[in-house]
Amino acid sequence: MARIKYYYDTETCKYERVKVSKWDIFLNSLGIFTLSLILAAALLAISSTYFESPQVSLLKKENKELLMYYNDMEKDIKQMDNMMAALQDRDDNIYRVIFEADPIPSTIRQAGVGGTDRYRDLREEKIVREDLVIDTYEEIDKMKKQMYIQTKSYDDILDMAKNKSEMLASIPSIQPIANKDLKRLASGYGMRMHPILKYMRMHAGCDFSAPQGTPIFATGNGKVSRAVFSKTSGNMIKIDHGYGYETKYLHMSKFAVKQGQIVKRGDIIGYVGNTGLSKAPHCHYEVWKDGKHVNPLNFFYNDVTDEEYDKLIELASKENESLG
Ligand SMILES: [Zn+2]
Repeated sequence: MARIKYYYDTETCKYERVKVSKWDIFLNSLGIFTLSLILAAALLAISSTYFESPQVSLLKKENKELLMYYNDMEKDIKQMDNMMAALQDRDDNIYRVIFEADPIPSTIRQAGVGGTDRYRDLREEKIVREDLVIDTYEEIDKMKKQMYIQTKSYDDILDMAKNKSEMLASIPSIQPIANKDLKRLASGYGMRMHPILKYMRMHAGCDFSAPQGTPIFATGNGKVSRAVFSKTSGNMIKIDHGYGYETKYLHMSKFAVKQGQIVKRGDIIGYVGNTGLSKAPHCHYEVWKDGKHVNPLNFFYNDVTDEEYDKLIELASKENESLG
């Protein structure tokens, strides 16, 4: 109930009743309301500046924790990066060196992760810690790529190792007959007087003199590509060893293998004889590389010592007559 107010009228010398219009009441109320609003806003501003709500504290705590985990993760990634570098180093400087392969160029090892911007979506989302998130993604992608290249390199090395042992087993590297006391090497590679034709001509192999029927061995793994008789070579076997190598064995008394047969180093392929243009029972042995005959002396390294090898060189260099 509104209080009734009076005022003293000096003209009438009486107390008169104050008349309050509805407009006055409205204006008064509006004033009070506005003031209250201003006060409330001011209070809110002050409280939010000096005090924070439980939700904000929680978010801040979460944020801090996430940052901490990200930092830890970055340290882990850095450590993995170092480990990766050690693997690459070992690969380039040890494994690949063993197999005489070139190191993987750093341009390939450090290659980027494709030309397009893989993180465009992330950038467009305008996430607050864009730098942190995208950097981490980039680091991980780089690592994935390097790991892939490293794995491929190990596959290559495995192939090379397999290939190398096959190659080493295939390249001729022993003498075609047992020659323990080295007395078998009768004539070497080079210009020699032919014992039957009686003129100097290129002797494309080595002659091992041995009794008729002495076993002749394949000097490396391969395939018997020819087992034929000719008037000059007599019974002749040719072995294709692959990798550009071939060997020939002439003047055999008989074959122990057939054309097309796969042989291993040390397998008996035939026996010493005196067939074709031959002066006495012996094995004429030739080594061919990429279609050219080469000095077989360079291919006896597997079954002789250094001293024996020197002795063989001395024997082979005698300018004697060949046996055929
Ligand atoms: Zn000969």
